[in-house]
Amino acid sequence: MNYILPKIKRNGFNSEEVSAKIQSLIDKLTRDLELKKEEYLYILDNISNNDTEYLFNKAYEAKLPYYQNRVYLRGLVEISNYCKMGCKYCGINYKIKTIPRYRLLKDEIIKCCDTGYTLGYRTFVLQGGEDSFYSDEYLEELLKALKSKYNDIRITLSLGERSYESYKKLYDAGADRYLLRHETASRRLYEHLHASFMSFDNRRECLSNLKEIGYQVGAGFMVGSPTQNNKDLVEDLLYLKELSPHMVGIGPYLCHSDTELKGNLSGTLTETLIMVALVRLVLPKTLLPATTALGTLDKLGRENALKVGANVMMPNISPTESRELYEIYQDKICTGDTSIVCRGCIETRIKAFGHSIDLSVGDFIDIERNEKND
Ligand code: SAM
Repeated sequence: MNYILPKIKRNGFNSEEVSAKIQSLIDKLTRDLELKKEEYLYILDNISNNDTEYLFNKAYEAKLPYYQNRVYLRGLVEISNYCKMGCKYCGINYKIKTIPRYRLLKDEIIKCCDTGYTLGYRTFVLQGGEDSFYSDEYLEELLKALKSKYNDIRITLSLGERSYESYKKLYDAGADRYLLRHETASRRLYEHLHASFMSFDNRRECLSNLKEIGYQVGAGFMVGSPTQNNKDLVEDLLYLKELSPHMVGIGPYLCHSDTELKGNLSGTLTETLIMVALVRLVLPKTLLPATTALGTLDKLGRENALKVGANVMMPNISPTESRELYEIYQDKICTGDTSIVCRGCIETRIKAFGHSIDLSVGDFIDIERNEKND
């Protein structure tokens, strides 16, 4: 059973009074960059088609002063599908027996980045399951090797929950950014979606540790996960305002038939776009990816996200052979492609939707430059 946005009327129209109230709340959010809990809830409970268009236009306009129509590209390397965690929605969690496991070694990861560098990318995102093989020492060597080979790049890690000391060592070795979606800001929903040995509080502590250390931090959440309701989504908006991350990854939950949550509905395009747009209004300067999950859900999902405020895309530069093994959800796009094909495809898509690619490192707009980033 899936309770996401139960009152959305996809083909319906609200009364003029309700629409007027929603649009005035959207105006207030655009101006004040925040709303009260009950005001967010009013929007989510009552929004209909004509209001979504209003919201989407406002969100698109909100990114223009900071990012215009530029889209930053980050080369994504999926370094391992081994994972010790128990996210019940994820197709690479430790319980899944149906996929062969792989991990890339240092030289293979560097080779992917070499290809990415040749294609013009200047940010590399190293993402993987929580794989204990990657000790601090191993990652420190990798980071130092990459940073000494290329002095004009940024490295983003997305390797899950680690200790403060570990994050600090990796930062000192050259990591610039860290993506760790909070997944949901609702404790009830977090506990429903994760194994009992996982901790809602620890995930949040990791995010505040990353911020304190000096990383550009990415949080984020899934839309449409089983039992998620509008109140849970309001919690996400409130939490993001409080954390104020430099990046926010938002994608639809995509049901994987080998997971414990099999048989549930996936999130939808409209619902996900509504949340992308609201986050753009709450955090106008944040970096907001048009996620691969949106592109998997709908062939124009990522392009639609650009139209509602997203400004980042992450073309895959993993070896073609390993791509289909990184099956966090099924039917993931681009698994049969090479990095060169992905580069061309993404550029064409971005341009077709009136945007242009930006191959600079694409730091968060207000980041204080320190020695490390110069
Ligand atoms: N292990 C790292 C972590 O925990 O942050 C990074 C890898 S994890 C697979 C990356 C993201 O994939 C998660 O944060 C989650 O939101 C997303 N994800 C996993 N399974 C998904 C699914 N079935 N549908 C949509 N997104 C999913």
